[in-house]
Amino acid sequence: MAMDSPSAPPLDGDIVDRILTFCPTFATLQSAILVSKAFHSVFQSHPKSITRAVAYNVVGPALPQALRFARYPYYDEDGYRRPSVEAVDLDPATMAAACPEEHGAIVITAKDADKLEGNSKVMDALENIYSLTQKDRTSSTSVLTPEESWRFRRAAYRIMLYCNIFPGTRYSLDELADLRKAEVKKIQRQRTAVLNKYPTDELLQMYAVACFMRGVLEAIDKKTADEEEINILLATGPEGVVHAWESRSYEAVDDELYWLGVESDTRNVLYIGYFDVPFTNVWTARKVKPPKDGEPATKYILDTIVGADDTCSQCDAPGGLELLTEANWHRLNVEPTKFLKGQLKKSPTVTASFSAATKHLHKSDELGPWIAEVFDAKQTPGAWDGWERDMSYCERCLTKFLEDQVWVWYLDYRVQKGWVPPENCRSGYNCKTIVRSRSHVFEKNHLCAPTTKAK
Ligand SMILES: [Zn+2]
Ligand SMILES: [Zn+2]
Repeated sequence: MAMDSPSAPPLDGDIVDRILTFCPTFATLQSAILVSKAFHSVFQSHPKSITRAVAYNVVGPALPQALRFARYPYYDEDGYRRPSVEAVDLDPATMAAACPEEHGAIVITAKDADKLEGNSKVMDALENIYSLTQKDRTSSTSVLTPEESWRFRRAAYRIMLYCNIFPGTRYSLDELADLRKAEVKKIQRQRTAVLNKYPTDELLQMYAVACFMRGVLEAIDKKTADEEEINILLATGPEGVVHAWESRSYEAVDDELYWLGVESDTRNVLYIGYFDVPFTNVWTARKVKPPKDGEPATKYILDTIVGADDTCSQCDAPGGLELLTEANWHRLNVEPTKFLKGQLKKSPTVTASFSAATKHLHKSDELGPWIAEVFDAKQTPGAWDGWERDMSYCERCLTKFLEDQVWVWYLDYRVQKGWVPPENCRSGYNCKTIVRSRSHVFEKNHLCAPTTKAK
C-alpha cells in the first residue's frame, strides 16, 4: 500500500488510529490491519479503544444492551438452546443481575465482535420492519430518527435477551405437560425479575416492541392466528419474527417451536401472557398505570409518524400506515389465485398452472415486485388510467385492481415463456366450460375478455 512505500510520507499514528476507528464493520477493520504494517502496529498499540469504536459503529448507542445479549450466561453448554429443567430453580434476582449492561470503557473480544455483528443484522431487519409498519409505509429501509432508533434498539436488544433467557424451546412437549403449577409460577417470577431491572420509561419502550412483534405475527395470517400459538411464537424473539415476516409464514420459525404451537392439545400455561404477565406484575408492584390495550404503543418510541392521516388515492378511505404502496405491497394478505378473473379462478386446470407460476410469491420480497409487474402489464390508455404503482391504495381498491388485471399479467407471462395462444374463446375469462372441461382449456384461449355474453 502507498503509505508503506518509501516515497510517501509516513502517516501520523494518531491519524491512522482515527481512520481505524471509522471502520464500519469488523471485517473492514480486519482487512485494514492485514493490508498495512503501519495500520497493524497502530492497532496493536490501542486494540481495545479501536475495537470498541468499531463495535459502536456496528451496533450504535445500544452497544451495552447488545453486548449483554451476546454475553449473558444462558443456562446450557452451547450458549442458547435447551437449558436444563433445573433452570426453574435459579434465583430470580441472580438471573436478573447476571452480566449487567456495561458502560464506559468496555473491552470487546473477538468472540463478542462476531456475535455483535451477526445480531446487528437481525436488528437492522427488525428496525426496517418496524419503520415500514409503524413510522413510514413508503420506505422499506428504516427512516427512524437517531433518537427513535436508539430507543427502539435498546428495547429490542433487551427483548432479545428476555426471549433467549426464556426460550420457547426451553421444554419439550412432554416436559411442558409435566410442568407443575408451582414451577410455572417460579418461571413467571424469574421473568418478572428480569424485566423489573429496567426503569419504567424504558420498560414501556420494551412493551412497545413486544406489541409490535405480536402485531407482525398476527398479521401473517389473520384468519388462523391463534392467541396461544402467537404466544409461543413470540418466544422465538426478534429473530423468529424477522423470519416469519420474510417468509410470510409461521412455519419459518424454529420447527420445534412451530409444532409445539400446532400439536399441543393442552393449554401451554407457560406461554400464556409470555410478556403480559411479567409486565403486569411490574406495573402493579410500581403502582404505575398500565398502558391501555388498543392504544398505540408506538408513542413510547416514535416522536412522529409519517403519513398517519393519508387516504386511499382512489376512494379517499382513511388508512394511514395501513395503506398499501410499492414499499409494503407484500402486506396484502391473500392467495394470488383469488385474483384470477371470472371463471378462471374456478377452473382447476387454470389454477393449477397459475399456482405453479406464482408459488414463490409467499415470500415478502417476491410479492411486491410481482404486483409491480401487474401494474406494468396494464394497458394505457385504458380503464385503469390514474392507477399507478407509486400511489397508495386501501386493501379494497388494490384488490379490485388486481382482480381485474392479474389475467393480463398471466397472459404476458405465458407468452414470454413461449406459449402460443390458440384462438380466443368467445366467452373469454367468463367461459363456464373451463370449470369442468380440461380439454377446452387447451383448445381455446381464455386469457381474454369475452366478446359475447357467457351462456
Ligand atoms: Zn380505496
Ligand atoms: Zn371457452
